[in-house]
Amino acid sequence: AAKQSGRGNVREYDRSFDSSIQNRIRLEREIQLGLERNEFFLEYQPIMSTLDRRLVGYEALLRWQHPERGRVPPDQFIGIAEDCGLIAQLGAWVVRKACRDAAGWENGLNVSVNVSPIQFTTSDLPNVIKAALDDAGLEAKRLSIEITENTFLQGKQNIEVLKALRTLGVGIVMDDFGTGYSSLSYLRDFQFDKVKIDRSFIWDMLNQPHSAAIVDAILSLGHGLGVDIVAEGIETAEQLAYLEERSCSLVQGYFIGRPSQTIAERPRTEVLESSVAA
Ligand code: C2E
Ligand code: MG
Ligand code: MG
Ligand code: MG
Repeated sequence: AAKQSGRGNVREYDRSFDSSIQNRIRLEREIQLGLERNEFFLEYQPIMSTLDRRLVGYEALLRWQHPERGRVPPDQFIGIAEDCGLIAQLGAWVVRKACRDAAGWENGLNVSVNVSPIQFTTSDLPNVIKAALDDAGLEAKRLSIEITENTFLQGKQNIEVLKALRTLGVGIVMDDFGTGYSSLSYLRDFQFDKVKIDRSFIWDMLNQPHSAAIVDAILSLGHGLGVDIVAEGIETAEQLAYLEERSCSLVQGYFIGRPSQTIAERPRTEVLESSVAA
C-alpha cells in the first residue's frame, strides 16, 4: 500500500517521523479526529503571469495544526491518508473549502487544488467536484485540479474521470512534471490546461546545466503543444528573469509570494521592483 501513495511520501515521512506501525495507526486516528475537530485549514499561494506580472490565481495547500504535534506538513500526512482511505474525505473537504473561499474573493481570481490519484479510485470525483462548485456557487472555469503523473499509472479509467472533469469545465493541471514517470504520451493523449515544472529543476537551474536544459526542454514542449507552463519554486529575482526570458507564462514561489491564509492582492514588492528581462 505504501508504494501506491507515490510521490515519495513514504520516503519523506520516514526520514522525519517515527514510521512504526503503532505511529501510523495513531496518525490515522488523529487525521480522522483532526477532520472532526477542524484542525485542517488551507493556505493560498499566489500564481503570477509573467506577461504583466499580475496574479492570476492561487494554489490551495493543505495544512494541519495538530494540538500536540504542532504544524504537520502535508508530506507527513497525505501519504498516510492515502494508505488508510481517509484521503477521499480529506480531499473532498479541501475542494469544498477552496471553492467556498474562492467564491468570496472580490478579485475573482482562480483557485487550484491538489488531487491525489487515490481520490480517483476511492471517490466519485466528478460528483464531489460538481457538488463543491454548486454549493459554493463558483463557476467551474475558476477551479483547476492539479494531478501528478501517478494518476495515469492506474489504468484507463482515470483518463475517463479526467474527461468527465474536463466536461464540467474545470482546468486540469499536470503537477510536478519531470519527477514522476514523465511519459510524454500523457501529454499527447490528454490535453492539459497547464503543466507545472517541478521545483527541483527550478531550484538549481542557474547552477546546473542539466536542470537548465530540462527546464528549457519543458518550456519548448509547452510552446509546441500550446500548453501554459507554470514554473514552481521561484525563490530569486534571477530565477524569475531566466524564466521570463524564455517566455514561461506563469510562475509561483516564495519570491512571488508565500502560502498564506489570507490571499495576497499582488506579488511581493521585490517582484515588481526586479527588472523585467528584455
Ligand atoms: P505541490 O502541489 O507541488 O505544492 C507546492 C509545494 O511547494 C508546497 O509545499 C509549497 O509550499 C512549496 N513551495 C512553493 N514555493 C516554494 C519555494 O519558492 N521554495 C520552496 N522550497 N518551496 C516552495 P507544501 O505546502 O509543503 O505541499 C507539499 C505537497 O503536498 C504539495 O506539493 C502537494 O503534492 C501535497 N499537497 C498539499 N496540499 C494538498 C492537498 O490538499 N491534497 C493533496 N492530495 N496533496 C496536497
Ligand atoms: Mg500542486
Ligand atoms: Mg508541484
Ligand atoms: Mg512538488
